[in-house]
Amino acid sequence: MSLTGSKPGKVYLVGAGPGDPGLLTLRGAACLAEADLVLYDGLVNLLLLRHTNGQCERTARARRDGTSIVSQAEINKRLIDEAKAGRTVVRLKGGDPYIFGRGSEEAAALQTAGIPFEVIPGVTAATAAGEYAGFSFTHREISSAVAFITGHEDPTRGSSRIDYQSLAKFPGTLVFYMGLNRLAEICQNLHQAGMSQATPAAVVCQASLPGQQVVEGTLETLSALAMEQRLKPPSLIVVGPCVTQRAQLSWFEKLPLFGLSIGITRPEDQADDVADQIVRLGGEPVIMPLIEIRPVPSSQEAEILAVLSRLSAFQWLVFTSVNGVIEFFRHLRRCGLDARALASCKLAAIGSTTARRLEDFGVTADLVPYESRAESLAAALVQRAAGQSVLWLRASRGRDVLPKLLAEAEIRLQQLVVYQNIDVESFSSEILNRLRSGSLSWIALSSPSIANRFSDLVRAAGMTSSELGARVVSISPVTSQAARKCGLSVDAEATEYNWFGILAAIQQYRDMESQQA
Ligand code: SAH
Repeated sequence: MSLTGSKPGKVYLVGAGPGDPGLLTLRGAACLAEADLVLYDGLVNLLLLRHTNGQCERTARARRDGTSIVSQAEINKRLIDEAKAGRTVVRLKGGDPYIFGRGSEEAAALQTAGIPFEVIPGVTAATAAGEYAGFSFTHREISSAVAFITGHEDPTRGSSRIDYQSLAKFPGTLVFYMGLNRLAEICQNLHQAGMSQATPAAVVCQASLPGQQVVEGTLETLSALAMEQRLKPPSLIVVGPCVTQRAQLSWFEKLPLFGLSIGITRPEDQADDVADQIVRLGGEPVIMPLIEIRPVPSSQEAEILAVLSRLSAFQWLVFTSVNGVIEFFRHLRRCGLDARALASCKLAAIGSTTARRLEDFGVTADLVPYESRAESLAAALVQRAAGQSVLWLRASRGRDVLPKLLAEAEIRLQQLVVYQNIDVESFSSEILNRLRSGSLSWIALSSPSIANRFSDLVRAAGMTSSELGARVVSISPVTSQAARKCGLSVDAEATEYNWFGILAAIQQYRDMESQQA
């Protein structure tokens, strides 16, 4: 490795893991953060791209109809050219880069071209399927080996290259990758080579993802059972007695939000925490921001600077969103100031999430109302700030409850817009398809303005609210009211007015449904 001279390009071949975005390695995440360009394959979970800072492109090696889009040679050449141009490139590949992944072909091409590279292993689909479905491939009492086998064979080759005679005698678990289309043939060949028809076998589809499906049977029954369930790739076939351990070892499908897809409508830069929570509860976060957060136009910056340079004129600073906190401190830094400028002010935050964000900047809220609502915040301020001056760091749009209620109590309130919240023009085509086809389980509405905007976009897409395939969950009664006013029916409502409350409400709804079933 050279530590001197101009920056040379380099390629990292990174294993993305099997699907669950939590299964990327720490090293993989660091490479993604560093890369100027990420070329990812079709198996990669798009949530992983949140770790990137550079340009991202998908490479599709083959279309469903078999025609090629980008050949392997073209991918190799691209990696080489980009690295030669001095860029840091990540080649992100589903599972592990070398396990049935052509990663070694890419590494060999880089080696030949004299391009430095590193390879970062990933959790391969088979091991993830074992853990997430509940099979231990090498349990010491039932299996002393495991084999990873490709079930996909080159149709241009006449005879089969899979040696079923040897596999039938193999002293352990067999795991076939890429074999779903040839499931019947694989089971039959194993039987003809001497394996008992009663050998337990399973298909694991979309292992480690919220759509995970497991079909259990035997060599005799598996193919028909899989057909009934209309399983789709990516799937693995597992053959061996370990399949029967599932009754004892399964856990993933028992997570509270397993299998549910939840549309997150909040701005993209605030969606990360919620997305992670949903993944950890077994669900699929679908990020569909309806409002975009932007800095204020430069014409308004002078006013912000003027107010921030005389913060001591205010007894209270009021924050009603995480963005308000972030943008306030950004502006403060730009004025050459820091948290010391707040020394004489008390701080109010609308809820615990906003209060926590203040703590990230080294200051603690003096007031957080019991309920995260503007009305409760105003009531608390009326008690504590009578006769004082209050500065509200706010968004360009929002409810005007605070000014109204504080004016009634004769509290002097100055409003300072520190960021803009701007409407997104329309749903993306992917989201539209999911809304139309009913492949989105829930839409979470996290404020009255988001409820209004969502309903506008549904209408603009030519849909009525009754055509929505998804259920609606709202963060609070005020949001539910706004949603109902625009004709949406609200199926669940949070009792704690934050994202934790939203997810709890969905969970409760599901529990209720299963009790009724
Ligand atoms: N390099 C990858 C494998 C690529 S080959 C790895 O290490 O996992 C593609 C095959 O992998 C698919 O046809 C399927 O058999 C398997 N596969 C990948 N992801 C999977 C998943 N989440 N669930 C089940 N099988 C998966």
